[in-house]
Amino acid sequence: MADLFPAPALPRLPIAGRSDLYPVARVFCVGRNYAAHAAEMGNEVDREAPFYFTKSPFHVARSGARLPYPPGTADYHHEMEFVLAMGNEAFGADRAAAEAAIFGYGCGLDMTRRDLQAAAKEMRRPWDLGKDVEGAAVLGALTPVADFGRVADQRIALTVNGEARQSATLGEMIHDCAAIVAHLSRFYRLGPGDVVMTGTPAGVGPVRSGDVLHGTVDGCAPVDLALT
Ligand code: MN
Repeated sequence: MADLFPAPALPRLPIAGRSDLYPVARVFCVGRNYAAHAAEMGNEVDREAPFYFTKSPFHVARSGARLPYPPGTADYHHEMEFVLAMGNEAFGADRAAAEAAIFGYGCGLDMTRRDLQAAAKEMRRPWDLGKDVEGAAVLGALTPVADFGRVADQRIALTVNGEARQSATLGEMIHDCAAIVAHLSRFYRLGPGDVVMTGTPAGVGPVRSGDVLHGTVDGCAPVDLALT
């Protein structure tokens, strides 16, 4: 039996220093993982447990993409994020097992229709129209854990048209990567192909057509996006 139409291929991410690619199967995103960002959005942080939303893998764009300003919004926002990519299975994992299952790290942009997200919050509706936007998970090349080293106080930063917008350190994350993977593995059988966008620091804001975004985390390949 043949497919009725050509099935879309999963997106693939380059891996720094290697010729093979990382296929992305699922994209989990953590909300409110930096206290200063939670405060700027008028929220308290939950230090007990992270919470999540998801993005379709078919909405992943590779770093370097040139994408149109999306429809349905007048307030499209940047959120610069540290991304982890799973290399092994994790299910009901403790911290050590969770950490050992991470393949590598990268830079990502959780682009957001902030006006639609705000409306959804107001009406207690899901965030999909605000968050699961075509091209709104922009992911850079992955750096294997062995090359990145320990996650500590590396700087995470974003410029728009060369102007600083976001700057923090990974040490400011409320839930670190091992805690996130351990917690998420209580609800999902995580495995290779699963990536987690670990939340954004303070300084989120609007972008416009023609803007050029450049995000960095010390030790990772950058993430770049041009809005046409
Ligand atoms: Mn985010």
